[in-house]
Amino acid sequence: MRRKLIAGNWKMNGLKAQAKELASAIFAKAGADMPFDMLVCPPMNVLGFVSELPHAGVFVGAQDIAETIKPNGAFTGDVSAEMVKDLGATWTLVGHSERRQYHGETNALVKQKAINAINTGLTVVICIGETLAEREAGCAVDVVCRQTRECVPDEATAENCVIAYEPVWAIGTGKVPTTQDVAEIHAAVRNELVKVLGAEKADQMRILYGGSVKPENAKELLNVDNVDGALIGGASLKADSFFAIAEAVR
Ligand code: PEP
Repeated sequence: MRRKLIAGNWKMNGLKAQAKELASAIFAKAGADMPFDMLVCPPMNVLGFVSELPHAGVFVGAQDIAETIKPNGAFTGDVSAEMVKDLGATWTLVGHSERRQYHGETNALVKQKAINAINTGLTVVICIGETLAEREAGCAVDVVCRQTRECVPDEATAENCVIAYEPVWAIGTGKVPTTQDVAEIHAAVRNELVKVLGAEKADQMRILYGGSVKPENAKELLNVDNVDGALIGGASLKADSFFAIAEAVR
């Protein structure tokens, strides 16, 4: 039985005062007795600050880490996995479509970041998903299977790695795939994980859905076969909507 994970990606939102308000509201509502796991990924400027607030029942993660495995060195602007860990975070996202789109991140680079995260003791959420053009061309399944094959490292296990399927065209647009389409992709990703990691690890690994998840559609999406939680952008910026989504797990 895979425990559901409700994850919030704050993206580039959160000056200190806003981050404090949002994190405090989420942490006050959360508790170790929740029947799901919860993760928040604040931006780097407030990551240390948020992870220092008491956060029982909620993991804190970064949105990205450096490609280099080096803990420090001449990599201007980069933040290493070691540094993220030092800030108190225990998770990180890698390969979000905004990183792929605006920073040219490739599957090979995403895999390297996933390896760095795992080797540093961080749990990694590897994001995958097709563009609108790829969906319209009928190759969404091929694209996500290839991303799974090329991004998930051999050292991935259900404990140190989670996959997030996020169709690029559904992120921040209010559009969501049909539940049949979500089921098709999640089953295909699970199948690909079997090939990459073997049946046992693949069966235990969580696959999240992300892309315009809201309180109104959360129950339907979270009930789809092989959907083991949600990665949430916009609706994670308010504690009430974030929890309304999480409540759909109960
Ligand atoms: C995201 O950025 O990962 C995301 C899913 O955003 P939104 O929920 O706003 O579509």
